[in-house]
Amino acid sequence: HPVIVAIDGPSGTGKSSTSRAVAAELGLSYLDTGAQYRAITWWMITNGIDVADAAAVADAAAKPAIVSGTDPAHPTITVDGVDASGPIRTQEVTAKVSAVSAVPEVRTRITGLQRSIAAAAPNGIVVEGRDIGTTVLPDADLKIFLTASPEARAARRAGELKGADVSATREALIKRDAADSTRTASPLAKAADAVEVDTTELTLQQVIECVVTLVAE
Ligand code: C5P
Repeated sequence: HPVIVAIDGPSGTGKSSTSRAVAAELGLSYLDTGAQYRAITWWMITNGIDVADAAAVADAAAKPAIVSGTDPAHPTITVDGVDASGPIRTQEVTAKVSAVSAVPEVRTRITGLQRSIAAAAPNGIVVEGRDIGTTVLPDADLKIFLTASPEARAARRAGELKGADVSATREALIKRDAADSTRTASPLAKAADAVEVDTTELTLQQVIECVVTLVAE
């Protein structure tokens, strides 16, 4: 049957790079669930909805059409037909995404999209996020939980942001992970049957090899 791989963990652990490479190497589809939460957050901001107003966010949760392209070589995301790949990576979206993601109506909506995408993947899929192994796809064939020291995570993220201040990036990361881990609705968590991989001292290539080997087992 199609193989389902769930890769969870906090920000800056290499989830996206690892998940894309593993999917490409094994001929699987790829889904970045963080991009979906970013997309709905971007739509809320664009439509003037106060993300601190959970009732307003809940009321609007069903409105935007969010479509994810699952080719690991070229992941895409559109909101109401508009390419949102650039806008979802702004600092404003990053700062507001945790509040939007904590709203149960948002999670129910996005989780439904994730399950249909996974079910439709012909050869299987690598799905990366925060609650994939625990909530979205609890029957996944393999669950990975990536970790890394706060220093390594901040350094990687600051590197991606080209020249961003490492200590400011570190504070923002810690704040977002704390919010994601403490929310009531499906928090960032390691599934009981997940394999934990600490990537602090590993190169991206080593992490990819480790996960590919685990899929083959
Ligand atoms: O992975 P990325 O950093 O792009 O995720 C952005 C945000 O989306 C996270 O900080 C979290 O608030 C939310 N998210 C989530 N559940 C997931 C994936 C992401 O709540 N499965």
